[in-house]
Amino acid sequence: MPDAGSCLCKTNDTVVLSNGDQCALGQFVVVQPRGSLDLIYMAQVEEILQVKGTPNELTQLADGILVQLVSTSQHSDAYSMPRTILTDGWGLLHDIMCTVNVQCNCNDNLCDTSGIRYVYQERVRTDHTLPTVAHRHPSDLILNTAQMRDAAHVQHFRINLPIPDIEEVLTGSVAREVDARRSSTAQKALSSLKNAGLGRHSQNATSLGTVQAS
Ligand SMILES: [Zn+2]
Repeated sequence: MPDAGSCLCKTNDTVVLSNGDQCALGQFVVVQPRGSLDLIYMAQVEEILQVKGTPNELTQLADGILVQLVSTSQHSDAYSMPRTILTDGWGLLHDIMCTVNVQCNCNDNLCDTSGIRYVYQERVRTDHTLPTVAHRHPSDLILNTAQMRDAAHVQHFRINLPIPDIEEVLTGSVAREVDARRSSTAQKALSSLKNAGLGRHSQNATSLGTVQAS
């Protein structure tokens, strides 16, 4: 194994992108091949490289960012967002457009809140715990296309939702509202009847008490 002094490259943990995002190893990002205006794809950062002895090393710039390409061809029906599936494709880039937010595909993996975390008070761990989400398959991720930051880039990956029939939506909404009002009125009437019945019972009880006392 070569010693550190003979290595030609340095690897880094983070890099600041041209849009100001801090990008760490393992981060999912949006990239665009050099010279392409409309081709855009997703990738995951694997290495941030600096060649030793170059001007970039002196000015703390990256010489190359090794990324693994990500397929977004599948999507989650529950979230209507694309899944991030690592491919066998790799690329060495000089710049990245932006970082993106990915979330666990909890719905398909039936993640639940069976995990726990301890509560700390003044930096001391207490016996009190709070439930946390236990992710079943943390590598099964979906791209959060609802993120507002860098939405201009992220929108390329949005799933086109079916446009609902306006008349059907309005009819359904009105029917739900009518049902809710009917249910509310029926509950109020039932509650009034119960109260009236209780009132009569309490009157009878008072009369009975009076008879017994005499
Ligand atoms: Zn999960």
